[in-house]
Amino acid sequence: MTVTISAAINSDRLWQRHMDMAEIGATQAGGVHRLALTDEDIEAHKLLMQWASTRGFSVELDAIGNMFIRRQGRDPSLAPVASGSHTDTQPKGGRFDGIFGVLAAFEALEAIDDAGIKTERPIEVIAWNNEEGPRFVPACMGSAAYAGVEPLDAMLASQDPDGISMGECVEALKAAMPEAGVRRLGAPLHSFVEAHIEQGVELEANGNTIGIVTGMQGYRRFRVTVTGEDAHSGTTPRSRRRDSFVAATDMAVALRALLWDNEDIVRFTIGRFEVFPCGISVVPGRVEFTIDLRHPVAETLHTLGDRISDICAAHAGPCEVKVREFINSDPMAFPDSMVSQIETAANRRGFAHQRIYSAASHDARHISTLCPAGMIFIPCWRGISHNEAERAEPEDIAAAAQIIADLFVELGNA
Ligand SMILES: [Zn+2]
Repeated sequence: MTVTISAAINSDRLWQRHMDMAEIGATQAGGVHRLALTDEDIEAHKLLMQWASTRGFSVELDAIGNMFIRRQGRDPSLAPVASGSHTDTQPKGGRFDGIFGVLAAFEALEAIDDAGIKTERPIEVIAWNNEEGPRFVPACMGSAAYAGVEPLDAMLASQDPDGISMGECVEALKAAMPEAGVRRLGAPLHSFVEAHIEQGVELEANGNTIGIVTGMQGYRRFRVTVTGEDAHSGTTPRSRRRDSFVAATDMAVALRALLWDNEDIVRFTIGRFEVFPCGISVVPGRVEFTIDLRHPVAETLHTLGDRISDICAAHAGPCEVKVREFINSDPMAFPDSMVSQIETAANRRGFAHQRIYSAASHDARHISTLCPAGMIFIPCWRGISHNEAERAEPEDIAAAAQIIADLFVELGNA
């Protein structure tokens, strides 16, 4: 079937939905603080549910709390075409990371509904649960569970710093949405597209509206525990100290040297560094820190990551060190068929576009193991993200929604 009806995106409605969502967990500086499955995040899910119900779209939740909003197809037994992202934010995050991909897909659903277009397949908006990961580890948990990349039980057992489990929170979400049906984890999807802000500066620098994502760089994450001995800071001479802070900072300096590249392609971050017992007059007996290492080339990622443990051991001094790797994910590429289909849609609509590589990781990584998947980026101001100042433009947001609508109709009849 050829597409003859054009589903028109309502840019004002789409922008207003962003502003309504941004009120849930709004911060004083104009950002959003809405960690996964907090009261605020559950409220965001309920607002989505309310909008869906008003349109007569059905809603389902799965065992990890992913949310599926469906506009039924002519043949309900066919696997749906889906698009979406996440509702949660980083601590003091922005108004667009994640939620934009959900709302753009929802606008596409509404526009198709307004235009009275029928699709063979059902079309769906998905809000993947716990994408960001600061409250429950690992990040991208909802999509990982759905794709079967990680075992469900381990993820439901994951606890936040207050000892509340992911499982308890998923139950709270279900209780808050009693009207929602049940989706089986891993139920087939025909295809999946995720729209997201770029979180980089390439689109803005090139004056392009749409980035067609070709793939994502790989990443490895490590947790390092350095153990020394608590001691009195006044009475303990240097020769008798087992100062975990000194050892950990030596490791950090050595790691930075190891991972330094003139091309500036390696991404090496120590994002969490905790000192115990954390008293002004106590030589610290324990330090825990994290390492986040990313690279687009699998071989380099393997080689560099494999040296971290030895470097830490070589700089432990009188302390002991344990390095535990908890994520190891290779670089990935989206299928050419999806890349060129998105490109064709952007061409047809006359949006300035380019192919782009994603330096960040997204839910589409896991879902691409389940069905053909692709991603659409739009510019965000100065590349600022995971920050209250994050900004995206209404016309770029609407452009992405238009492409999703076009793909929904095309793939929904494929
Ligand atoms: Zn995101």
